[in-house]
Amino acid sequence: MKIRQPIITVAGHVDHGKTTILDSIRKTGIAEAEAGGITQKISFTLFPVEKIIGRCPLIGEKGIILEIPGFLFIDTPGHAAFTNLRKRGGSLADLAILVIDINEGIKPQTAEVIEILKIHKTPFVIALNKLDNISGWQQQSEDLKQNIEKQAQNIKQDFQEKLFKIQGSLHSHGFNAVPYWDVKDFSSNLALVPCSGKTGEGIPELLMILCGLSQKFLKGRLTLGKQAKGVILEIKKQKSINYIEAILYDGSLKKSDKLAIASFDKPTTSNIRILEEVLPLSDKFQPSQEVHAATGIRLQLTEQEDVLSGMPFQTFKSEEELSQLSKEITEGIKTDKEGIIIKADSLGSLEALMLLLRQENIKIGKAGIGNITKSDVIAAQTNLETNKLDAIIVGFNVQEDEEAREISKNIKILKDDVIYKLIENLQKFREDKQKEIHRQKLMSLATICKLKVLPQFVFHNSNPAIFGVAVEGGSLKSGISLIDQNGEDVARIKAVQCEGKTVESAKQGEEVAISLPGITFDRQLKDTEYLYSNISEVQFRQFKEHKELLSREEISVLQEIAQIKRKEKPTWGV
Ligand code: GDP
Repeated sequence: MKIRQPIITVAGHVDHGKTTILDSIRKTGIAEAEAGGITQKISFTLFPVEKIIGRCPLIGEKGIILEIPGFLFIDTPGHAAFTNLRKRGGSLADLAILVIDINEGIKPQTAEVIEILKIHKTPFVIALNKLDNISGWQQQSEDLKQNIEKQAQNIKQDFQEKLFKIQGSLHSHGFNAVPYWDVKDFSSNLALVPCSGKTGEGIPELLMILCGLSQKFLKGRLTLGKQAKGVILEIKKQKSINYIEAILYDGSLKKSDKLAIASFDKPTTSNIRILEEVLPLSDKFQPSQEVHAATGIRLQLTEQEDVLSGMPFQTFKSEEELSQLSKEITEGIKTDKEGIIIKADSLGSLEALMLLLRQENIKIGKAGIGNITKSDVIAAQTNLETNKLDAIIVGFNVQEDEEAREISKNIKILKDDVIYKLIENLQKFREDKQKEIHRQKLMSLATICKLKVLPQFVFHNSNPAIFGVAVEGGSLKSGISLIDQNGEDVARIKAVQCEGKTVESAKQGEEVAISLPGITFDRQLKDTEYLYSNISEVQFRQFKEHKELLSREEISVLQEIAQIKRKEKPTWGV
């Protein structure tokens, strides 16, 4: 039975050195002269088994027989969520290298990658990169472990401290991470390989660990099927021609095959105009009539307008197969009946976002790829009527277009390129909204209000009495009943006026006129300094129970009201 190369993704926080490590891996396999020729950024690298053995003497020395035909590395373009590239029934990546800058440790995108790897149960190794950046570090031996031993005492100590710190953080993610030379068993230990993409130190050791992981975990997973299946990584423009860079992860693909490329509604079907395969350890492609998985390919299709990065494709024989394919694709991005609106820049990142949102039990009402549009804003506005918590748009690695921005005043749009930040901000939004909703409910029960009477502004003495008040605490509403500072009922407010106009309410700090029927000001209120809203004991207790929703001023007004009431009934509200 034929087995294919394991597909290995290189992932990690931005600038921690993914591309540099991949470049170094590539150069590790080829002569120096040739190495200088690699300049183009490419999404994948084919690494044949002979070269692996050539680079890792330990494999030969230990008599390890490698059954795999080599590795296929993918550089996750753009950001961490590409770790989530999927194929049918799981992650596209068979293994992963998680790159961590040894001097920086675990960053938000690192954590994100770890969570995604955990969810997909993808075995991985950690490259502790930028070893050469440790101050005073010197490369005195070809062998990494020996070289660590040879460092000056203080430098070795600095290295150890950095290592411990990262081990500690990984422990909190649930991993028992140890330097690769201490790994007893890959199922219980996560291997750490200190390295430098820049100097190449540690890169052969990294390759060796990948061989170990392949042998341990991938038997059975790598047997080749008949049908050609792949995932689109990137769409690149070269002189007005769009090329598709893709991974073929199963089967064999002929130039004469017809492809189905998954999409949201229905798959695109297309003929292949140009089929090229990447050359081993190179960024060059070679035209081909037939290619075999796993490999990196470049395609030009007759129909490629709707093709997006992250989308799976395959050959197909019948219409039935085609509809099955669309079903499987939409399965991963199925939305709930109601929920928030999310957008992302690719299928892979959308799925990653959905995966992590669902872990937080957040429902998704609408999901899509591409920028935030007017229709997304309208969907969020519809949510305002049903569930205010869902009236939000979360954009991962996308922007809103002009039209959307213009109409989105009442809708919160969260954008970021780190899923964790998005989720954190989303939780904060939902908590604040929830509080606001509770508060509105609480406030609809009764009004908290303290008014200072302004005797110099009596506009009408009686029937009704109309005079000025300043809102000292809480808020004033038309229709509420007032008591005075002795707890005597005064009257119900008939109307509130502000600068000659009738208003429904007034806030703390405002001065307004109120009219009270059945009151004669100079007889009943002349000596009254303050008026309060009349609150029942039951209402008072409800406010007391939800103190966290009230402002400091509101709480102090409530305390004053309670004191007044307790003159009559000492147990009031206790
Ligand atoms: P990516 O965003 O993770 O792909 O990171 P890059 O590979 O683009 O590297 C980011 C920066 O770190 C670049 O300036 C690299 O030259 C530098 N860099 C990467 N690896 C190393 C390393 O091992 N040592 C040192 N000193 N610099 C490195």
